[in-house]
Amino acid sequence: MYYKQYGDTDMKVSAVGLGTMRYDEEDVKAGRLEKCAEIPLYAFEKGINYWDTAPAYCHDKSEIITGIALSQVKRSDVYVTSKVNLGTLNEDASRDNFRRRLETSLDRLKTDYIDFYHMWCMLNLESWEKHMELLYGFFEEAKSEGLIRNIVFSSHMQGNDIEKVVETGKFKGMLIGYNALNYRFRQSGIKAAHENGMGVVVMNPLGGGLIPQNPDDFSYLTRGTDLTVPQAALRFVASHKEITVALAGCTTKEHVDDAVKAVENLEERPAEEIAAMYEAEGLSFNNLCTGCSYCKGCPKEIPIPKMMDAYNQYILTGKKDAITSRIAYHWDIPKAKAAECIGCRKCERQCTQHLPIVERLAEIAALPDIEE
Ligand code: SF4
Ligand code: SF4
Repeated sequence: MYYKQYGDTDMKVSAVGLGTMRYDEEDVKAGRLEKCAEIPLYAFEKGINYWDTAPAYCHDKSEIITGIALSQVKRSDVYVTSKVNLGTLNEDASRDNFRRRLETSLDRLKTDYIDFYHMWCMLNLESWEKHMELLYGFFEEAKSEGLIRNIVFSSHMQGNDIEKVVETGKFKGMLIGYNALNYRFRQSGIKAAHENGMGVVVMNPLGGGLIPQNPDDFSYLTRGTDLTVPQAALRFVASHKEITVALAGCTTKEHVDDAVKAVENLEERPAEEIAAMYEAEGLSFNNLCTGCSYCKGCPKEIPIPKMMDAYNQYILTGKKDAITSRIAYHWDIPKAKAAECIGCRKCERQCTQHLPIVERLAEIAALPDIEE
């Protein structure tokens, strides 16, 4: 396993970390939690010492499963995370409620402390400022008592907004979505964090599945290696000097093996060098929808992620009829829904990729229907 130093701490963390939101669905539903816990234990055997969990993952069982595994290893050999935000607290920002939530996570994880506690899922600066005002003091208090070791945040903000958060010096590290699709979008943020001595952990390294689903478009990532496209996409992220840990969501032991292989003999390079190297071979994909579904809540109930996924096909193939066939044959939804958009831009404010959804929907609406 390849290890990196986490920011300006003395912690050595594995270049790939375990994402614990993908424990086997059937096992979780059937209550076979001990069986699920074999995954973090196997990952540990393979040298993965960074385990990222949260309330709500896996029908709210992820922390429990992760705790079963954590109690079977020497506690100081693993770095474990969890997360909280106003949503998790049902908007009750009282100290008692924050403490109850934290204590629940500690109980479930069967531990006295959490190594990295996230101010979770800051979608924009406005939301982050509100969380700072209402919750940051509670984070500090818990840290001073040793219940959490490091205060970190997770975010879908774009690079220059991330820079603003980084500059406050209030966080030891951050968790962001970064991959071969959107790297340009967040590069200034990861550089700023790195320069400020923060650890940078990356989620969604496979672009919401879009990279493995389009192996031909991303085969350039594998050139000169014996890696599969998903392995190469993980390596793409892990090889950034500015990135400390790339999270791999693992359901099976094979997924763990894939993640381990992705960072064998890793060579670290600065982000700009990597971008230039890959752009000489491939394309820049910042403008693709990653299917994250943060744009939910459309007043007209337009299935935005599906529409934007269909638009992705156009970007990837250059053919407009790829949009209509994706809508009709893959998603089986009425294309006419696109025309119902009233342009309120609620979705765009929430979009993690900051896509021009309204314009794209108008383009989709104007396309000819597929002839029967
Ligand atoms: S801009 Fe259109 S698609 Fe977006 S939330 Fe409003 S109505 Fe829905
Ligand atoms: S449109 Fe934006 S927010 Fe919605 S799924 Fe795609 S990337 Fe995510």
